[in-house]
Amino acid sequence: MQLLKDKILKEGRVLSDTVLKVDSFLNHQIDPLIMKEIGDEFANRFTDEVITKILTIESSGIAPATMLGLTIGAPVVFARKRKSLTLSGNLYSAEVHSFTKNETNEISVSKDFLSADDNVLIIDDFLANGEAVKGLLDIAEQAGANVIGVGIVIEKGFQQGGMLLREQGVRIESLANIKSLANGQVEFFD
Ligand code: 5GP
Repeated sequence: MQLLKDKILKEGRVLSDTVLKVDSFLNHQIDPLIMKEIGDEFANRFTDEVITKILTIESSGIAPATMLGLTIGAPVVFARKRKSLTLSGNLYSAEVHSFTKNETNEISVSKDFLSADDNVLIIDDFLANGEAVKGLLDIAEQAGANVIGVGIVIEKGFQQGGMLLREQGVRIESLANIKSLANGQVEFFD
């Protein structure tokens, strides 16, 4: 997605050889116009599928997932990282190790919002080692839902997650795929 690649080149900050900061449009401040384009692009990539539910993880997956939901008219469920008082019992849960924070969180989704009748598309902001996506796949499996694929805004193709998940037969569509962040430069796969 050229618009997204241009935005990353213009506004992204390379924090290290493995971490990209895109706080100006995706991870802190949100640019609704590019989020809308991202939602439309996901809808195009999965136009051959019937999606009954979009599953993501708080917080940075919510904006792109919601824009996709608006385009295709499907509800968005986000996995929570902290158990709130209102989210008790009746949960699907999975453990996710965070690449950027180097901590393990239990993520949870209420059984009220995911079931064996659902055709699920998983959305997230970044794909690095695949831990977040694996946690969401685990939750969908507990619900008995059918996962049709995974949509990622920015894949870091030099890390293992994409390869491992594709090897397991998971369909992954990433809108920008980064080959390298070496020397402070963002380089994309074609
Ligand atoms: P994974 O679970 O695939 O190892 O990492 C994906 C998760 O970690 C995403 O949900 C994202 O929030 C975070 N993440 C991984 N790499 C980056 C990065 O380079 N920049 C930012 N901003 N977040 C990242």
